[in-house]
Amino acid sequence: MGEKYGKPPNEPLDTLSLDERFDKVEEVTIIELEELADALEFLLDLQPHVCAIRGSDYPCILCENKCDVGQCKEVKVMRGKGQKTVNSSLLSLNFEKRDAFEEYLISKLVRELVREKLNVMNPEEGYDITFFFKQEDRWRKDEIIVFILGLFDKVKTLMPEAKAVINTWIRNKVKAFERDETLKKMKE
Ligand SMILES: [Zn+2]
Repeated sequence: MGEKYGKPPNEPLDTLSLDERFDKVEEVTIIELEELADALEFLLDLQPHVCAIRGSDYPCILCENKCDVGQCKEVKVMRGKGQKTVNSSLLSLNFEKRDAFEEYLISKLVRELVREKLNVMNPEEGYDITFFFKQEDRWRKDEIIVFILGLFDKVKTLMPEAKAVINTWIRNKVKAFERDETLKKMKE
């Protein structure tokens, strides 16, 4: 639980931009899949691989020199997309939302739901969350798949409550504020 990937020195994960990393990839195999579960099966099918540039155990999906660029594959599903190298992969997911308020709440909610369980990176543009998997995670493959698929239901259940709580808070705050203003005026 709460497993964190050890950051290489002078290179925080958050500063690595996905776009920068994949812009230069010329030949990417794109696989279109119907189901997220199939995409996860594919993305978590990882093997040990020694990074030619950064040495053993370095997740090549973060390898800025793209040592195994020929093996980088991309997968697309309805609510997400992923990229995979031999020993590591990324999955970005997009949750259903109606407005900017929901968008903000969903990104906060999803991050909180996964915080202790999976590694995440700054979400890729247009997505709510980006997961980072490495080959050691493959032992937990089934657990991870069930957990990620379950996120959609959790968000659906928690969102109406989150919205209601915030809306009620705003209404009550405004009421209390107006009451205080009226009292102040009465005292004057
Ligand atoms: Zn590498």
